[in-house]
Amino acid sequence: MLLNSLVELDRAHLVHPVASYRGHEKAGVRVLASAKGARVKEAGGHELIDGFAGLWCVNAGYGQEKIVEAATRQLRELPYATGYFGLGSEPAIRLASELADRAPGDLNHVYFTLGGSDAVDSTVRFIRYYFHAIGKPEKDQFISVMNGYHGSSTVGAGLTALPAFHAGFGLPFDWQHKIPSHYSYRNPVGTEPQAIIEASVAALRAKVEEIGPERVAAFYVEPIQGSGGVLVPPDGWVKAMRETCRELDILFVADEVITGFGRTGPLFACEDEGIVPDLMTVAKGLTSGYCPMGAVLLSDRIYDAIADGAGLTAVGHGYTYSAHPVSAAVGLACLDLYENGLLENGRRAGERLMAGLHSLADHPLVGEVRGRGMLAAVELVTDKAKKTPLPASAEPAKRVFDRAWDNGLVVRAFPTGVLGYAPPLCATDADIDGIIERTKMTLDQTLEDPDVR
Ligand code: PMP
Repeated sequence: MLLNSLVELDRAHLVHPVASYRGHEKAGVRVLASAKGARVKEAGGHELIDGFAGLWCVNAGYGQEKIVEAATRQLRELPYATGYFGLGSEPAIRLASELADRAPGDLNHVYFTLGGSDAVDSTVRFIRYYFHAIGKPEKDQFISVMNGYHGSSTVGAGLTALPAFHAGFGLPFDWQHKIPSHYSYRNPVGTEPQAIIEASVAALRAKVEEIGPERVAAFYVEPIQGSGGVLVPPDGWVKAMRETCRELDILFVADEVITGFGRTGPLFACEDEGIVPDLMTVAKGLTSGYCPMGAVLLSDRIYDAIADGAGLTAVGHGYTYSAHPVSAAVGLACLDLYENGLLENGRRAGERLMAGLHSLADHPLVGEVRGRGMLAAVELVTDKAKKTPLPASAEPAKRVFDRAWDNGLVVRAFPTGVLGYAPPLCATDADIDGIIERTKMTLDQTLEDPDVR
């Protein structure tokens, strides 16, 4: 089909996720046609380095034949099997077992979803059910962190703490509470790590006290806040919050939808701090975006209480596509690739990425470079001393993204003037060096934008 017709059909019919509908109609869609490794090609031939792995999900990179073969084989043999009626399929059972083997501590029970949003949504259902099962139904209040993102289901969007996900949607619910973010670069308590950790612990304690300790069910944490602008907490922050939850008798949920599957170095970012959450959500890198899939991992304690509480009654939570065999086959192939070279390559490439981005720190627009492994950000400012953000009139999310695109780089450009990086773990030295060079070009061009000065 001619590209112009596709653009017209898209404009008329396709509703895009997290987009200004009118803005998108005006700009028109950019159609991606093919991809290999860490490179994507636009219909028309423009080749780009995908510095964002699609939507921080194509961790294995594009064109991995082993994944394609696994999916094809499964599509031929058994494209679908429900998990209802006590049925199942080999890849789903094997993937659950492989994940349980590798997940921290006693996260031994895996509930498969279609992505991250319904994984988060499922945690809320499981947690409510758990507290009913142990005779504490009054524990029905949930706390998350400002700038956090926990998906786009109605419940998850309420836990999310980004304005666009609430305004006009009647969210958050009154049982969803927030504490301030650790956001080190712009934290009212300063940049000293211990002060930030202590402030967050105190904020959680105060929030629990305000709600009533007997009412609070769970606290949600991303090991690194992704959609809020790649906000990396100080070392020890996650552990301190986990310990505080244990002390306050609140469940600790680690949302590893972005950070899982090698993004920060190890398979799961919880390993960076040696913590074991009560529940963990994963998606994205689980299937590297080749097929939709997410999962909730439940600890023995949570699973057993739910199982005992329900007895022989069905736990009324399930999707038609829970534990989809094709997605599970893809997940197994991804795990194999991660453990046979990709995690290692990702760690090496992550060091090169961080070093490369740090080499841009002297650029007049760069306020901060932060990240861990293959998850990084550059925060742009117009005045380094005052940390003045780029003005809204400079439309960072659009103009910086467009410039990078024209320079052959896909990068996430947040409306706050933060550039986000999450390249595929298969990225070569040339890919990483290209990301840095093209970022530099983009920053130089942005410096020339009259709205930026
Ligand atoms: N949780 C986190 C931490 C995420 O980053 C995301 C997606 N970016 C989600 C949940 C939702 O995942 P999905 O888009 O697959 O529904």
